[in-house]
Amino acid sequence: MAQQYDIVIIGAGPAGLAAGLYGGRAKMKTLIIEKEKDGGQIVITSEIENYPGSIEEESGVTLIERMARQAEKFGCDKVYDTVEDVDFTGDIKIVKCKKETYEAKAVIIATGASSRKIGCPGEAEFTGKGVSYCATCDAAFFEDFEVYVVGGGDAAVEEAMYLTKFARKVHQVVRRDVLRAAASIQEKAFANPKLDFMWNSNIIEITGDGLVNHMVVRNNKTGELTDIYADEEDGMFGIFVFIGFDPATKLFEGKVEMEKGYIVTDQEMHTNVPGVYAAGDCRVKELRQVVTAASDGAIAAWQAARYIDDLNSKPQQAAPVQEEKKEKKEMIEVDKNTFEEEVLKAEGYVLVDYFGDGCVPCAALMPHVHKIADEYGDKMKFCSLNTTKARRLAIGQKVLGLPTITIYKDGQKVEELVKEAATAEAVLAMVQKYV
Ligand code: NAP
Repeated sequence: MAQQYDIVIIGAGPAGLAAGLYGGRAKMKTLIIEKEKDGGQIVITSEIENYPGSIEEESGVTLIERMARQAEKFGCDKVYDTVEDVDFTGDIKIVKCKKETYEAKAVIIATGASSRKIGCPGEAEFTGKGVSYCATCDAAFFEDFEVYVVGGGDAAVEEAMYLTKFARKVHQVVRRDVLRAAASIQEKAFANPKLDFMWNSNIIEITGDGLVNHMVVRNNKTGELTDIYADEEDGMFGIFVFIGFDPATKLFEGKVEMEKGYIVTDQEMHTNVPGVYAAGDCRVKELRQVVTAASDGAIAAWQAARYIDDLNSKPQQAAPVQEEKKEKKEMIEVDKNTFEEEVLKAEGYVLVDYFGDGCVPCAALMPHVHKIADEYGDKMKFCSLNTTKARRLAIGQKVLGLPTITIYKDGQKVEELVKEAATAEAVLAMVQKYV
């Protein structure tokens, strides 16, 4: 049998862990499902300078460890499993994993994104053999070797600087003649003597002999091809690729609205499916950072908790809805246009329930009047009038206190119960007098 949760969060990166923390704190039974290891892309970040509070040297790993412990402290469960399919069509969402199936009232998609690939021949073959997407994981292998870093964004430049602590020389391979990275990061990079830049350059082929020892770089302006070989003594070099990320959202195609592979949400992280939220890098947004991912996660979990509270109170709300249906059948809701015809010009007895928006005693009495109408509707006409929408008409009928239940005969008032006097028993007794 499927395990049941209030909130199931898919992904244990900063967005998922923040959602777990907020879900747990909202006393929701919350589960995070993670495919491999916590943290997502951030654990391949050597140093985080821009997460509020991270003023000492903080790595992605240490930040994520603390986030995970905090979510757990507030009761959030975590499992390591791979989500294979989801069904978001009902009130209960189904998340089918390799090992287990989970049911949840709300799901938060926080699957993040994965490293984009260059896509050139040899890249896949030499991944782990010189090609890497994680400086913190693999930098130590390149102590005193030469390293090429692909990309010109924040990640590429920061990781290139990190790699200068290990490598003999770091060459940044940038496809344009400018960097995309923030000005403050660029400033540090240009001042780093171990870092140089290969502008307008793309790696188009990677080869080697077990390990990467050769690549072909094309100059995008001139079309010139350059062969780069490993130093003979080294016998190898490293290629670290940081050219952005692709959203990990394939699983949700056709299940939630997407735009270019990213999940579309509103500002409160709602997808187009009630009870399904997306947070972090997998959703459409401008600024993809740890801090914005964490913020998304908090918002998504808070919204999910509100949604679940509403869902849980649905059965209690169902009763008045049924009454309303009956009202349409048994009672006529009159307004200023129909009052004269339905009440004043009607032959015989007509009961009018005068009520108003926000009038609690009116709302309490109404179901009883419906019941009475159910029973005596064939002998007397039952109407209701919302005085909030027909104030002048009510005043014209001398109704100035709510609720008021009036019985008319041939358009003339014959009896009336006002405010406290208008109890269910009194109304029933009044009706029984005339039927
Ligand atoms: P990014 O900002 O999208 O930059 C991607 C870089 O790779 C750009 O220089 C881009 O070149 C280049 N590129 C893309 N496709 C390429 C290809 N096929 N071949 C060669 N080069 C290619 O990605 P990111 O640096 O990974 O950052 C992702 C997000 O995380 C950003 O919002 C970033 O600000 C944020 N981030 C922030 C920090 C920080 O603030 N500490 C650290 C890491 C990441 P073009 O410029 O020509 O497009």
